[in-house]
Amino acid sequence: MAGRRDRDYFWTLAAFGLIAICALTLGLVAFARQSDETAKLREESVVRNGLSAKMHEVEDQVVPQAIWDDAVRHLDNRFDLSWAHDNIGQFLSNVGHFAFAFVLSADNRAAYGMRDGADVSVRENSLEVSSASTLIAAVRTEELARRGQSTLSHAVQASAFQRIDGRLFIVTATLVQPDFGRAQVRRAAAPIVLTGREVDAGFLDSFSARYLLDSMHIHEGDSRFEAGEAHAAILDDRRADIATLDWVPQTQGSQLLSQILPWMVGLLVALLMVTLALYARARRAARRLLESEQQSLHMAYHDGLTGLSNRSHFEELLGDAVASAAHGHGGFALHCVDLDRFKELNDTYGHPQGDAVLKLVAERLRRLCDGRAVCARLGGDEFAVLQPIGDPVEASEFAHNVIMALSEPFELSIGPRLLGSSVGVALSAMDCVDPVEMMRRADMALYRAKGDGRGCFRFFDLEMDRVLRTMQRLKEDLRQDLSAGKLEMVYQPQVRLSGEVVGVEALARWNHAVDGPISPSIFVPLAEESGLIHALGDFTLRRAAEDGKQWPNLKTAVNVSATQLQTPGFVEHVEAIVRSVGANPSAIELELTEGVLLANEEQTRAALEALRAAGFSIALDDFGTGYSSLSYLPRFPIDKIKIDRSFVSSLGHDGKSDALFGAIVKLAQALDMRVIAEGVETNEQWLRLSAAGCPKIQGFIASRPLDAAGTLAFVEAHHPASAEGVVALPVANDAGLAAQLSDSAKLTKRA
Ligand code: C2E
Ligand code: CA
Ligand code: CA
Repeated sequence: MAGRRDRDYFWTLAAFGLIAICALTLGLVAFARQSDETAKLREESVVRNGLSAKMHEVEDQVVPQAIWDDAVRHLDNRFDLSWAHDNIGQFLSNVGHFAFAFVLSADNRAAYGMRDGADVSVRENSLEVSSASTLIAAVRTEELARRGQSTLSHAVQASAFQRIDGRLFIVTATLVQPDFGRAQVRRAAAPIVLTGREVDAGFLDSFSARYLLDSMHIHEGDSRFEAGEAHAAILDDRRADIATLDWVPQTQGSQLLSQILPWMVGLLVALLMVTLALYARARRAARRLLESEQQSLHMAYHDGLTGLSNRSHFEELLGDAVASAAHGHGGFALHCVDLDRFKELNDTYGHPQGDAVLKLVAERLRRLCDGRAVCARLGGDEFAVLQPIGDPVEASEFAHNVIMALSEPFELSIGPRLLGSSVGVALSAMDCVDPVEMMRRADMALYRAKGDGRGCFRFFDLEMDRVLRTMQRLKEDLRQDLSAGKLEMVYQPQVRLSGEVVGVEALARWNHAVDGPISPSIFVPLAEESGLIHALGDFTLRRAAEDGKQWPNLKTAVNVSATQLQTPGFVEHVEAIVRSVGANPSAIELELTEGVLLANEEQTRAALEALRAAGFSIALDDFGTGYSSLSYLPRFPIDKIKIDRSFVSSLGHDGKSDALFGAIVKLAQALDMRVIAEGVETNEQWLRLSAAGCPKIQGFIASRPLDAAGTLAFVEAHHPASAEGVVALPVANDAGLAAQLSDSAKLTKRA
């Protein structure tokens, strides 16, 4: 679009430039013509004046011969033919180059004649004389008018151009007069000297040389319409056109133009081309600038990986949407989308796979938004959608579609992978005028969706808000209670199937001053979120190590969160705590979950090795719930596997669970790891575990978690020595089962 406009501008500019050059050229041509024309007119006027000057020159040449006392004496007083031959005929022919000269007597008849240098007979009236009658008459008229006046006032002459016998002449009639008055005209009229000076090639040459005129020539008659030439009309004594003097006028304007015009046009065209080139370049540069500006604007507003809007852009849009909804202009739904299990995938297969998933997610979301809703990536695996809605049903439909779309497998280079997502939805409301609050609400709903088992969406409601505020309060209370050392520790025994106690797991208890006992499954995540996990971990470890001194032959297991393990200097830190209470690391077993192993494998392995070297033993907690892959097991220094309660509770539901359980037990034993099953509650589970070859259990069937004193009592009652061969079950009301159990216990013992 912009490109086409640019091209249009370019061609318009080029057209204007060309038109300007043409106009300038035409203007210059017209100017040159005009100046040529002016020059021609000037030359014509110069020539006209030159001809009349020439005529006077010719007259002046006759004057010395005609106005002369001797001429009066020899032509009037008595006619002397030989004088006339010498002083008129020959002199004027030789000196003045006259073509003819006649002496006319008082009756205007020729008394002497010379034509082309030779005397002619004057008996019959010659053509020259008869054609000069007007001039002769003019001279006579003036002669008459001057009768009685003194001589020497001025010459009496009349001249005109005349065409005689096809030749052109300046014909002059001059009255013979005395010059110093030593002779006087005696007859009735003075003689007249009639001369003819031919306008021939020689005449034209000298004339054109004098006035610097080119190619001068004579035309008979009128030739004013001959193109390209200048003209001066030659009129006879009756003012008739008898000839035209033609020459090629000087055309300085055109000459100058013909010399400079090609250069000038060339220069202008070059200038135009340079201008156009510069213009095109400037436009290109401007376009590039615009593009890069647009690109940086796009980059400032979009996420580089997925091309979706980024957080800051989204927040801007959300601000606008909140403001317009507050004014009652259209409602909207804010969806916060979080990928389930993204972190595991990213940690396991690396960032390139993670990035590929994010791109695919963005693609699916964009397709769902379909230009009607705005989709953004807020960071990590967090996405958000701003959806204009008329009815809340539209929001739940959209959220449902998102979950369905993201539950489809993602085709990655490592093969298809399933992820799933959770969505939190907040609806615009008149009471909410703050985009930050909107975001908080959607986040809260998302939190709830995740808490409700993921793969679902939840709408924000005020109850949720209340819960979250309670959480907020609890965090604060936990901080205070922790620093006041108000938490308690309980211990849950771990026993052999035979009933002998083999260890205990330390579990923290928090008895809130107002809300009563709060489950670790609530306050441990709270501690994780608020950074209290380190304080909690230290507290737990110190108390467990201290209490554990009361049962020195048993290991006390302590739960360690991933955050703790990843803290630099963790190994030295835990060892220091244990030793500070006078306990030995070999009395402590650290429980870690599978997730810990997957993140940053090398670092984790090093930490585990170091812990082992310090004397601690390592148990893998909740085995079977995480991103279970048995392949990593041999790569880590693990002493013990705790098979998760969910596994135990599925026993007996189908044959497969039992077989699988047996396989895990065998695998662990093959890897030289101890095995224990968690959360064993029923006799049947106990029986099946025994059948699967699992040697140890932890669960309510053996004992609930007990305080330190209760633990000590339990340990003493179920000391390995005192409980040998005896299966001491707290709930063994099924006689048949008990019998089987004791059988299998014996079998186990024997094995
Ligand atoms: P966990 O490490 O898997 O601990 C076992 C949980 O299962 C304990 O819950 C225990 O009371 C419960 N349990 C034991 N036997 C049975 C049974 O037969 N049936 C059922 N239904 N439950 C049984 P508790 O104490 O509520 O702890 C929950 C989770 O909180 C623990 O799971 C552990 O992950 C965490 N936790 C507890 N204390 C601490 C602690 O001091 N530090 C850390 N980091 N986490 C702790
Ligand atoms: Ca545990
Ligand atoms: Ca566990």
